Amino acid sequence: MASHNSIGSSSRSRSKQTSSSQVVCYHNEIAPLRTVRYDGPTKGKRFFGCSYWPEQRTCGFFKWADEVDDVRDLQHLVMEKETRICELEYEMNMMKDKVKRLKAKKEKLVEEVEEMGIATTETMFELKENNTDKRLMLTLVFSWAFFTLVLLMK
Ligand SMILES: [Zn+2]
Repeated sequence: MASHNSIGSSSRSRSKQTSSSQVVCYHNEIAPLRTVRYDGPTKGKRFFGCSYWPEQRTCGFFKWADEVDDVRDLQHLVMEKETRICELEYEMNMMKDKVKRLKAKKEKLVEEVEEMGIATTETMFELKENNTDKRLMLTLVFSWAFFTLVLLMK
């Protein structure tokens, strides 16, 4: 446990700078380098494991020391992807903002169009009224003329 503490406290600066042989577990905490002590084919082999092992809250992280380079590459990749995701999220928020602004603009336009529509229907009503007025006048004139004609014929 003493070795784990020395590694942990010497450079607990998160996983941002993995220039040294730091390996982080799924807790995003430095995984201490350990050695297999059990008798078996892997005895003496070195590995990185979760610092909480064998406690219950261990995340189960385990990696052989000679595979660490691959892990570091993967972690680098993950970090790059996370940065990209952050960028995309930022872009998405920008887009959302734009969409919001466009929606507001659209609503305004729709309102304007609706107002124009109301105005158009109003003028159409006016035109229709004018038409009926004209027709009424014509009917009146014709009936008046017919009436006088009938009177004159008598
Ligand atoms: Zn862990």
